[in-house]
Amino acid sequence: MDFRLSEEHEALRESVRDFAREAVAPVIAEHYERHTFPYEIVRQMGKMGLFGLPFPEEHGGMGGDYFALCLALEELARVDSSVAITLEAAVSLGAMPIYRFGTDEQQARWLPKLLSGEALAGFGLTEPGTGSDAGGTQTRAVLDGDEWVINGSKAFITNSGTDITALVTVTAVTGTNPDGSKELSTIIVPSGTPGFTVAPAYSKVGWNASDTHELTFDDCRVPAGNLLGERGRGFAQFLRILDEGRIAIAALAVGLAQGCVDESLKYAKERQAFGRPIGNYQAIQFKIADMELKAHTARLAYYDAAARMLAGEPFKRQAAIAKLHASTVAVDNAREATQIHGGYGFMNEYPVARFWRDSKILEIGEGTSEVQRMIIARDLGL
Ligand SMILES: Cc1cc2nc3c(=O)[nH]c(=O)nc-3n(C[C@H](O)[C@H](O)[C@H](O)COP(=O)(O)OP(=O)(O)OC[C@H]3O[C@@H](n4cnc5c(N)ncnc54)[C@H](O)[C@@H]3O)c2cc1C
Repeated sequence: MDFRLSEEHEALRESVRDFAREAVAPVIAEHYERHTFPYEIVRQMGKMGLFGLPFPEEHGGMGGDYFALCLALEELARVDSSVAITLEAAVSLGAMPIYRFGTDEQQARWLPKLLSGEALAGFGLTEPGTGSDAGGTQTRAVLDGDEWVINGSKAFITNSGTDITALVTVTAVTGTNPDGSKELSTIIVPSGTPGFTVAPAYSKVGWNASDTHELTFDDCRVPAGNLLGERGRGFAQFLRILDEGRIAIAALAVGLAQGCVDESLKYAKERQAFGRPIGNYQAIQFKIADMELKAHTARLAYYDAAARMLAGEPFKRQAAIAKLHASTVAVDNAREATQIHGGYGFMNEYPVARFWRDSKILEIGEGTSEVQRMIIARDLGL
């Protein structure tokens, strides 16, 4: 058992860490404040190859693995979560379904631009009326000659409305299974298709520099060839995508939790109270020690889930454990980091205020904490 990173992984981690400090940290607070999408940062991440990290070179990827993506997400989120979720959603929810399930033609058409970061894709599963219970999907797609006609709506879809969004893959009911349950399939809808409307961006509590929209499909017609993989495989497809995605979200959460340690350490050494730096007081030292402990154990949990996935072993339970634990830890650390910063922690100019606002969604997105517990319990045989 060896938890040390390979030379390639270590080099990647260092370069993303430098990039986050030098290119993201100086500009992200303004994007966050103004709710603007950081196109220039995305362009630079594209040049670094981050959007192609876990994909083979033949598709325009970097030939790395999913763990490399997780390391990059952790280092980005250590500085900012909007940028990290933009990358996470673009790779793990946007490009990955096309890579895993797409035809040669779909891959040739979409992957080069998605893997270079020139274009982004969204993944539309959640609907206004149903999220955790994906079986409750109401969006319908009916085959009419050689076209799918899609009607319905999707809620909270990341990366779905940027100037460089090329497509959204949507899950839709395409029929009824022999057992009476809904037949779900996944269909690629290119941006700009008539009948596909992107609502104005949501006003969110956090992730303010990331892009999130409600989408509606009103007799939206796409070619029959836009079906992703086999008809009726939608459920299995998104379960696979979400299982992997949970490891990535766990990595992102660990990054936020570690960023809270970084900022708190710095502040505890600078801030004076009662004639000494507050870091001299054991109450503050213990808080920071606990925060480091939590970030460290959550990191080990996602390393374990990623290692199992890369070894081709079952990893569903470990991915749920990693996501559940890391998101809890992120919220805990953000709360404590704010406390350590006192009144300044409540001021938006301090990164910890952003961490606090960005932490809560980690217990909700890509499966709530309750859903993670359901997955773990089910996997234990309950
Ligand atoms: C900023 C943001 C970005 C997002 N990006 C995307 C995206 O790109 N693509 C996408 O498809 N979705 C996206 N989502 C949606 C997200 O994945 C869902 O919000 C999440 O899965 C929860 O679904 P819900 O909001 O419908 O909550 P619900 O499913 O309505 O849950 C409400 C509450 O009930 C609990 N609950 C539900 N069922 C049970 C049960 N059986 N037992 C116990 N408790 C239960 C939940 O845990 C939760 O606490 C995004 C959401 C946000 C806020």
